[in-house]
Amino acid sequence: MPEPEHLRTTTDETSRERELIFKERELALKEKEVEAKIKYDQRGLWFTSPILLGFITAISGLIGTGIGAVLQGNSNLNLERKKFEFTQIQKALETTDTKEAAKRLVFLVDIGVIQSLDGQRIREIAKNEPQKIPTATVSGLTPEITGCNVGEKVRGLDRQIIFIMQRENPTSLVSFIDIDAELNKNSTFPLLQPAAKKALAQAIRKRTKKLIINAAYRSITSQLLLHNYSKQEQCGIIIAAIPGKSNHQTGLAIDIEDFTGWRSYLEAEGWRWLGPVDPVHFDFVGSRISDIKELPIKSFQKLWNLNNPEDKLPENGIYDSETEKRLNQAPPDGFPKGEKCSIECGF
Ligand SMILES: [Zn+2]
Repeated sequence: MPEPEHLRTTTDETSRERELIFKERELALKEKEVEAKIKYDQRGLWFTSPILLGFITAISGLIGTGIGAVLQGNSNLNLERKKFEFTQIQKALETTDTKEAAKRLVFLVDIGVIQSLDGQRIREIAKNEPQKIPTATVSGLTPEITGCNVGEKVRGLDRQIIFIMQRENPTSLVSFIDIDAELNKNSTFPLLQPAAKKALAQAIRKRTKKLIINAAYRSITSQLLLHNYSKQEQCGIIIAAIPGKSNHQTGLAIDIEDFTGWRSYLEAEGWRWLGPVDPVHFDFVGSRISDIKELPIKSFQKLWNLNNPEDKLPENGIYDSETEKRLNQAPPDGFPKGEKCSIECGF
């Protein structure tokens, strides 16, 4: 039996309306999906949140392909309006801080920008379950961002960390540019512990020859890069210790040119050759060595806290997973706040 005329009209309108809404959502989400796959900005913000991607996939699947014609005319305006809303939401989520994202979303609801979604529900989630909000994750320290020249691209960040290290403990590391040794690559810093520098100077005086060094003080940032690359077998790096486990981070190690010529001179002054496994590497094992393993880690924690007062790390110098996570999110060029060393870096 056919439906009464007035009922049919209503039903048709409802279904057309619903169709339009779905089509609009599909378009908006498609756009979002494409954008999600591209790099977010120069500093390396990516939409890689599994929750967000899962959400997009789920909705796209629900929509399917069986949607009919799209209503024209006024609907274009509507569509533009929704695109604008989605763009604003996306921008609100461009942070690694869920509390900040929650604050921004509530603001968008309050000023009436978010209209097509359930504002009340957004408010509830922001207030009670902010951890559900799919914020951006920052992959600051990846080869895509930093390249394979480990150390060079994170120079800005390293200089901020070293500045704090030198302020915390001014005598822990000293520059060796005043002795006849040359650091010929700028992926590490010309810094050593005072006792190690003194012994090196002595060896150089005895051989009366300039020492060419390829690596000296390596920051925890560079070490983490090496470690990350090794896990993904990127940039030809197979094995690398986690930050804090290398003598290059305590100012007690150098990698040099002409290791056969230098070996006996260095060994006579307390430098130990590592052996054929890494023939260019020497460790200082003489007296008056300080244990400064925790210093760069603590310095990074301080730097992070200075820039992220709402997401503070304990300043304990312990390299745990929480610290590693933040170090991975750190901007390679350095944070907005934090002085960069120059003379304190050994330059
Ligand atoms: Zn080495």
